[in-house]
Amino acid sequence: MKKNLFLMLAVLLTIAIASCKKSVDNPSAQKEETTDPAKKVYHYIIGLGFPAHTIVEHANEFIVEEDIIFPKNMQVPGAVGTEQYYTGSVVSASKVTNIRLYIDASMTSMTSEINSAISQWNSIPGCTINWTVVSSGTYDVLIQDYNLGSGVCGQGTFPSGGAAGGLIRINKAYIAGNSFAQRARTICHEMGHNVSFRHTNWKAIGESTATDVPGVGGTDASSIMNGGQCGSGATVLSTNDKNAAVALYH
Ligand SMILES: [Zn+2]
Repeated sequence: MKKNLFLMLAVLLTIAIASCKKSVDNPSAQKEETTDPAKKVYHYIIGLGFPAHTIVEHANEFIVEEDIIFPKNMQVPGAVGTEQYYTGSVVSASKVTNIRLYIDASMTSMTSEINSAISQWNSIPGCTINWTVVSSGTYDVLIQDYNLGSGVCGQGTFPSGGAAGGLIRINKAYIAGNSFAQRARTICHEMGHNVSFRHTNWKAIGESTATDVPGVGGTDASSIMNGGQCGSGATVLSTNDKNAAVALYH
């Protein structure tokens, strides 16, 4: 009931904002609304099946279910919702074989953990996912330290336009007291989001419906992609994690 009330308020607020905008903007505002990149991204997120109440808006991005970043300037795929994969958007075959990761200066102190996470994704038999660390020039994904407060270890970004999600944030101070294996797990987990994986335990932790990777559905207590397990979850990719990676990228 409370939730319904909140949703209704959210809808009313949206209508209020929309009508407010119309009254102050010039007639071209109508066109502006349909091409507003942030609004496009918002509708894309809704189209992926995430309920409005799981989406938190910030200045330059939307944060969904606490650890997924949707930049407002991201490239929104043309068709949404009919694909059979987790997010409807995977990394293209040509790009997945060389995902260039740039380690921000704020994260170089965890280079060993990053390399450990990379080696896990890169050593899956029959899988084309391949991360490389670059120290200059063009990169695909930036990993940086970011204060996410208490309770959130990191944030990843889903792929868009065939490219891996462009940003990984690690709550470095928050995970500093964890074991090496757990610090590497956090990084490995966020990297999984950047190549399209949702939380394996989405149902148990009350998240929006995720689509099974073809042939690799179901729960998996050993999955590194289980959410809400900061500092306590699996530290290596499970058999099903690897099968899922091969199913999406082979
Ligand atoms: Zn996550």
